Amino acid sequence: MKLLENKIALITGASRGIGRATALMFAENGADVIFTDFREDENSQSLVEEIKAKGVRCTFFAADASNHERTLEIAKAVEAEYGRLDILINNAGITRDNLLMRMSEADWDLVMNCNLKSVFNYCKAFTPMMLKKRSGSIINISSIVGINGNAGQCNYSSTKAGIIGFTRSLAKEIGSRSVRVNAVAPGFIETPMTKQLGEAALNEWLKAIPMRRPGQADDIARTCVYLACDLSTYITGQVLRCDGGLSL
Ligand code: NAD
Repeated sequence: MKLLENKIALITGASRGIGRATALMFAENGADVIFTDFREDENSQSLVEEIKAKGVRCTFFAADASNHERTLEIAKAVEAEYGRLDILINNAGITRDNLLMRMSEADWDLVMNCNLKSVFNYCKAFTPMMLKKRSGSIINISSIVGINGNAGQCNYSSTKAGIIGFTRSLAKEIGSRSVRVNAVAPGFIETPMTKQLGEAALNEWLKAIPMRRPGQADDIARTCVYLACDLSTYITGQVLRCDGGLSL
C-alpha cells in the first residue's frame, strides 16, 4: 500500500518550486491533490495533467492565499466535491527583501499577508472538516530564517517565526482531536525563489551547509510526506529542520 493511499491533500502555492514537487510526490504516493496558486497558467495546467496521469484526482483553484473570503469559498467547494480533507500544506510564500532602513510599509504588509495571514486563512477554513472526522495533518512551511533571522529579511523572517508560534499554538488547541500540526523549516533550497539570488549568493550559502549541497524541492517534499503519513502519528507541534545542517 502506498504511504498516502486514499488521502486527500491541499497544498497552497503549488504551481512551481517546493509546492509543485510536493504535489507530485503526494500523487505518486496515492493522494488526491488539490492545489492553489495566484492564477491559472502553463505551470498550473501542466501540474494538473501530471498529477492526473498518476491515477489520482486533482483540482486547481486560482486564489490569492491571503484572501480570506476566497479561502472560505474553496473550503466549501472542496467539501462539496471531496467530502473531507486529510492533509493541509500551507506552502504559499513570497519574499520582498530589503534592509529595514529601505523596507516599505507595502512590502511589510504584502509579505505578512501572503506568508502568515494565508496560514490563518487555510487553517481556519479547513480545520473544522478535520475536527469533525477526528484526524488530519497540517504542515506549515516555515524557514530556518524564522529561527535564526537573516539580514535583509525582517519581514520574511517575522512571518516564518510567526508560523512557528502559530503551529505550536494550534497543535495545543486541536491535538485532543487527533489533528496534528507541524512546521517544516527548509534551509537553502534550489527553486525559482532562490534562483533570483544568483550564483554568488548560492556559493556563500554553500560554505555554511555541512552537507555541501543546496537542498532540492524533493528533499522538502519527502519531509512533508513523512509528516503527512502514518509514520508520524505521534508527532505534533514540532519544527522539522530540513537544511543539510545549515542551522547547526
Ligand atoms: P517559489 O517562489 O518557487 O514558489 C512559491 C509558489 O507560491 C509560487 O508558485 C507562487 O506563485 C505561490 N504563491 C506565493 N504567494 C501566494 C499567495 N499569496 N497565494 C497563492 N499562491 C502564492 O518558492 P519556493 O522556494 O518553492 O517556496 C515555497 C515555500 O517554501 C515558501 O513558503 C517559502 O517561503 C518556503 N521556503 C523556501 C526556501 C527556499 O530556499 N526556496 C527556504 C525556506 C522556506
